[in-house]
Amino acid sequence: MIVDAQGRRFRNLRISLTAACNYACTYCVPDGKRLQAAQQELDSREMLYAVELLIDATGIEKVRITGGEPLLSPKFDVLLPSVMRLPLSDVSLTTNGQLLTRKAATILNAGVRRINVSLDTLDPEAFPRIARTGDLATVLLGIEQMLAAGVRVKVNMVPMRTKNADQVLPMLDYCFERGIELRFIELMNMGHLRSGNQYVQDFYGMDEILDTIGSRYEFARTDAPYDSTAVRFEVPGQGVFGIIANESEPFCSSCTRLRLSSNGRLYGCLSNARAHDIRDVLGLPRQQALPRVRHLLGLALADKQSLNFRGEVTVMKFIGG
Ligand code: SAM
Repeated sequence: MIVDAQGRRFRNLRISLTAACNYACTYCVPDGKRLQAAQQELDSREMLYAVELLIDATGIEKVRITGGEPLLSPKFDVLLPSVMRLPLSDVSLTTNGQLLTRKAATILNAGVRRINVSLDTLDPEAFPRIARTGDLATVLLGIEQMLAAGVRVKVNMVPMRTKNADQVLPMLDYCFERGIELRFIELMNMGHLRSGNQYVQDFYGMDEILDTIGSRYEFARTDAPYDSTAVRFEVPGQGVFGIIANESEPFCSSCTRLRLSSNGRLYGCLSNARAHDIRDVLGLPRQQALPRVRHLLGLALADKQSLNFRGEVTVMKFIGG
C-alpha cells in the first residue's frame, strides 16, 4: 500500500475516457472549441490494462468514468462493461447527459447502478449560454430514463453569480421531486479562469448557496463518508443535497483521488499540474509493469497538496473532472 505522511492513499480513480466533449462550457473550455480530443489518446485496451495495474499496485476500489464527455467516445461501449467486471466496490460515470438516451442500453446492460449528470440550469435559454450548445429537454429525458430503470442519479451543478445563481432553488426543487441528490460544485479556479476576472466575478460559494436555500428551506448538516468531497445537508421531508466546497471547506486532507487522463498521464492532485506518464509501462507484462506503476504512484501521491485547494492551469476535461 502506498500511503503519504497524512495517511492518504489512492482509493478512487477517475478516468478521462477522452478529452473531446460535445459541450464547450464557458468555465471549462477556454476557446469554445468542441470535440477536441487530446493528442495520442489511449485506446480501450490500454485503458483497461492501466486500470488493472492501478488496482493491483495501490488497491483502487472505485472507478468513475468521465472526460471530456465519456458517452461521446467509441471506447465507452467497450470499456464500460470491461471495467464493470473488475474487482471494484463501485463503478460510476459522470456525463453531461446529452447522449444518455442513446447510450442507455449500454449503461443498463453493463449493470451501472449510479451516475452523475452535470446540469447547470433548467432554463432552456440559459442552457446554451453556459454549455455553448446542447438541448436541455434531451438531458432531462435521459435523466428520467435512468431513474425509471432504477439507476441512482446525482446531479452536479456549478452555480455562477452572473449565469445561473437564480437556478439554485429551481434545481433543488427539481431534484427533490425525483429523489435525486443535487451536488453544488463551487467554481474551481482551473485553466483559463486563472487569468481574467471570470472566476472572481462568478464564484458563488457555500455561504451564498446556503443563504439562498435557507430562504425557502430549513436544513441541517448530515454525515458524509470520510473521503467524500461533498459537505452534505438534509432538508427534512424533502431530501439531501451536497456542496463540493473546494474553496470554502477544502477536503484535501482526506482526498483519495487519482486521475488518469485520456493520453495516459496520472495526476495525483487537482491543484498540481504535474503528471506522470504511464503509457510506456502499458507495453510491459504485468510483473515488469507493476514496480514501475508503484514508482509513478509514489510520485503522484507526493503531488497532493496538504491543505488548500488552489486550482491549476490544467483543464478539467483533459484530466477528468
Ligand atoms: N462531460 C462530463 C460532464 O459534463 O459531466 C464529464 C466531464 S466534466 C469536466 C466533469 C465536471 O467538471 C462537470 O460537472 C463540470 O461542471 C465540472 N467542471 C469543469 N470545470 C469546472 C470548474 N472550473 N469548476 C467547477 N467544476 C468544473
